[in-house]
Amino acid sequence: MTQDYPIESGRRMCKHCGREFQPQEEFISALYEVQPSPEHPHGLSRLDFCMDHWPGERIERLAFWRTRLPEPEQPKKKRIVIDDDRLLEVFFRLAGTDDESRLDFRYVIGLMLIRKRRLKMEGTRRRGNRSYMLVRKSRTREVHELMDRRLSDEAVIAVSQEIGTLLDLIDGGSEAAREEPSGGEQAS
Ligand SMILES: [Zn+2]
Repeated sequence: MTQDYPIESGRRMCKHCGREFQPQEEFISALYEVQPSPEHPHGLSRLDFCMDHWPGERIERLAFWRTRLPEPEQPKKKRIVIDDDRLLEVFFRLAGTDDESRLDFRYVIGLMLIRKRRLKMEGTRRRGNRSYMLVRKSRTREVHELMDRRLSDEAVIAVSQEIGTLLDLIDGGSEAAREEPSGGEQAS
């Protein structure tokens, strides 16, 4: 995988004051809906804020989390650290979206959650010319629809990389491709 998400690089700075974060400094990242564009192909963007400038409830966001930059000498983690709760939150927040690009994003998050057994496949449903997976949230009776986007493996890998970058789930660049949905059996 060579294409990285364009806005993301190793450096991170506060959206408000422009200050670059130091290793080990705690800051807050948040995921937002934006107009889909070449820069934001899935209509989602991530912003970082220093602890002093986090706007909190004043801005509408899909998810936010506290994070910190690793020490530069710290060896790159080999495994992806996936925060299931963060994925679930975004999955449910995007339930009402009808934006095509965000639907792809939600679909791949759904696949990740199925693999991680946080969602369980209960069946399928057709409505019009769309088909949906019915997924149940583990340990609950809540059943949700997941529109089947019929993405190619390559598309799933590309989207999962973006999810990793936007949601801060990976520490390396290309690990997602190897470890996440492309990895074993797909929920098909
Ligand atoms: Zn700041």
